Amino acid sequence: MLLKTDAVVLKQKKFGEGDAVITLFSKKLGKLQAVAKGFKRPRGKYSVGTQPFCYGEFVLFKGKELYQISQVDLKQSFYKLREDVIKLTYASYILELTESIITEGQTNNRLFTLLIEYLHIFSKMNKEYETLTKAYELKSLMYSGFKPQIESCVHCGSLGSENVKFSAREGGILCSNCLSEDPYSMKISRVTINVMQYLMYADLAQIARFKIKPYVLKELEKIVKHYINIHIEKSKFKSLQFLEAVKK
Ligand SMILES: [Zn+2]
Repeated sequence: MLLKTDAVVLKQKKFGEGDAVITLFSKKLGKLQAVAKGFKRPRGKYSVGTQPFCYGEFVLFKGKELYQISQVDLKQSFYKLREDVIKLTYASYILELTESIITEGQTNNRLFTLLIEYLHIFSKMNKEYETLTKAYELKSLMYSGFKPQIESCVHCGSLGSENVKFSAREGGILCSNCLSEDPYSMKISRVTINVMQYLMYADLAQIARFKIKPYVLKELEKIVKHYINIHIEKSKFKSLQFLEAVKK
């Protein structure tokens, strides 16, 4: 049976002699793995279109166990992401994160559209990579049912309390009366809460021009990292480890 779907390549792994297993985020089936036969041959039918970040229309054939790629109609390779190693690493992290968030066989159109939009905008940027990446992290959590609650206390629902903290475990902010619910809750300033809200609801194109103050970014980074760790159950992102090593 042949199936046609738009998809983005998240990962490519060697498989046997000259074949590769490609992890796709597809529009119609969510995450799936497909074999690209003979992709290593210089004129191999699939050497184009099966690299990470490639976005195209894939024709897949369902074999006994795995899908096979029968044709790729490349729409965009986002080659500009490869211009600089830091930029490439941020974008690689986004693919890694997306792969951890999505599930096999489950579609997520909002997240799919977000990923394409992110890659489009991000590939044209040449600075302030963190802001757009933070926006993607928060939006992807939100679109996958893990939205952090920052409008009101996650425990009692009270609004507008001062001295709130952020509890990754409870899934949002805790007011001063509920702080005992999580002894590990983290410091969060009013500015950071406002920035989080902005990153969750504004358009990526708009966010790409927005600059976050370093202390806010630092607070936000700590919170989001911890939140992903708990809710996506993943803490070791190869790309992030590399990024930290490069920054040092
Ligand atoms: Zn409360």
